[in-house]
Amino acid sequence: MSKAFEQQGVEDLRKEIDQLNHEILALLNRRTTLVKAVRAVKDAEGRAMPDPGREVAQVQTLLLENPGPVTAKSIERIYREIFRSAVEDSVPERPTPMLAGSRPMLRRGGVMVGDVQVGGGAKPVMIAGPCSVESAEQMEETVRFLTDMGVRLIRGGCFKPRTSVFSFQGLGLEGLQILSDTVKRHGAMSVTELTSIEHLQDTAAGADLIQVGARSMFNYELLKKLGEVQRPILLKRHFAATVEEWLMAAEYLAGHGNDRIILCERGIRTFETQTRNTLDLSAVALIKERYDLPVVVDVSHAAGRRDILPALARAALAVGADGLMVEVHPNPALALSDSQQQLGFDDFSTLWASLFDRRGGC
Ligand code: PEP
Ligand code: MN
Repeated sequence: MSKAFEQQGVEDLRKEIDQLNHEILALLNRRTTLVKAVRAVKDAEGRAMPDPGREVAQVQTLLLENPGPVTAKSIERIYREIFRSAVEDSVPERPTPMLAGSRPMLRRGGVMVGDVQVGGGAKPVMIAGPCSVESAEQMEETVRFLTDMGVRLIRGGCFKPRTSVFSFQGLGLEGLQILSDTVKRHGAMSVTELTSIEHLQDTAAGADLIQVGARSMFNYELLKKLGEVQRPILLKRHFAATVEEWLMAAEYLAGHGNDRIILCERGIRTFETQTRNTLDLSAVALIKERYDLPVVVDVSHAAGRRDILPALARAALAVGADGLMVEVHPNPALALSDSQQQLGFDDFSTLWASLFDRRGGC
């Protein structure tokens, strides 16, 4: 160590080091600003970034100039990191929609389904009915029971997206006619899933609320077509979709002209095997707190079992859900689909009484 340094105390030396840190930082920032400018020109010209040949040339020049005491090995290591960081930091910033909090295409507040408001501060709604429309008798019995209780939104699947081709596939257009006729006769509104563009017009004519099933959330062609329809949409979350992907699917509908969207959380696939899916209530809270969009929770498909439905339903309302979807069947044991998760009339009555103020109606 030179005499001049020995005469300085540690504190003075540290002050000098601090000063150099400031200068190195300023130089690094100036350097990255220049790299950004190079990147902008290269991007415009469609040229690749980084350029390994130029990086090697820069290090070679520095090694020839290097007076020491920094070793050649350190120069190589430090510059490798400087090059890597500059390339990373020069990537143009993209707005992150999740942090933006607003989705300009999506309408905040409530959505009307017939004369029932969903979201926007309205009382929570109940969407109930069988997994599948099986017969006119089954629908008559179920719709009479539910509407007598005060339920106004009646579900029933007609085109069933079943995992197995050997399972009941639904009554199709015949089921749609049964659902529509029965629900109208009882002064309620119908909710059913559209699985194919082929049935778009029939479904729009027969349903008051068109459901996009979990499996179809990623079907962008279907979403685009539904954008042109004059009916509100119940957009279920795919079991492997992030909240962002789900919101993007909603943007497809809105971007194509239909912003009457009610989101529906129905559980996502996790490693858990005791429930059919894992109900993601964080997503529901997020949708309400950050985006203020209407969101309902399908507890039946989330749980895949009856015993925990009441607890999940209470939890969903506690985090701010605008409503629930529950599968109800006159005789769940004989149901042609999802028999293990549908509620019989007695169980539904108990659930209903525990959840809602009867005078408020849902
Ligand atoms: C349904 O609601 O009938 C259904 C099939 O649900 P999901 O699309 O959520 O699986
Ligand atoms: Mn079902």
